[in-house]
Amino acid sequence: MKRLPFIAGNWKMNKTVGEALELVRELKASVQGIEDVEAAIAPPFTALYPVSQELKGSSLHLASQNLFWEEKGAFTGEISPMMLKEIDCHYAIIGHSERRQYFGETDETVNRRIKAAFNHGLKVIFCIGEMLQEREGGLTFSVIERQLDGGLKGVEENTIEEIVIAYEPVWAIGTGKTATPEQAEEVHQFIRQKLGRLYSKRTSEGIRIQYGGSVTPENIKGLMAQTNIDGALVGGASLNAESFSRIVRFKEM
Ligand code: PEP
Repeated sequence: MKRLPFIAGNWKMNKTVGEALELVRELKASVQGIEDVEAAIAPPFTALYPVSQELKGSSLHLASQNLFWEEKGAFTGEISPMMLKEIDCHYAIIGHSERRQYFGETDETVNRRIKAAFNHGLKVIFCIGEMLQEREGGLTFSVIERQLDGGLKGVEENTIEEIVIAYEPVWAIGTGKTATPEQAEEVHQFIRQKLGRLYSKRTSEGIRIQYGGSVTPENIKGLMAQTNIDGALVGGASLNAESFSRIVRFKEM
């Protein structure tokens, strides 16, 4: 099945509103006219609204870096799916390893966030991936399986089509150590097979699986040549218009 390649930039805790607007203006110009690759950016919460205004009429999609599962109420410091939907957010990144590592995110809270996003019409970039010691201990597949089972618990076949899985080996994030295309493909294939057991084969064939972990303009082409790699979630290299647009334009290399 043909899947539209999808490149998303996770800006993490970077860029003031002014800086975000400057970057997004450059990006809009440099990815204009690309129709055979979907692209999205995930600025920090403070920049989401101004960036959404700047993106009107552009094919670049907006993503949040997280969300909370309740609609409103006494949840100091949280942002609800409704609030994100209101400002034209298309996607929410959920379960990023930095949230799991530093902010107590678990498979169960990831699951609640995913369901809340779907209930409000947001699409999801669901991040999974093993730590270095888990890979070295031969636990990669069991960790991935646990994260998929936990994160997708109760998520129905008719909504799962709105998901994008981001396989991000934690040891490759921000370290400059990319997984080789073969290492990544092995896990992507495992993820697709697992999705085929949780849902129908047809559904699993349609779900896009991004790779994340030190993706650059230099290594994107090799990664994208793999059968089950459908895009990338990009951290560091998404903070600069030139490098991010070169990644989005990987087909032209
Ligand atoms: C990420 O944070 O999702 C990521 C992949 O970061 P980097 O590209 O910097 O490794």
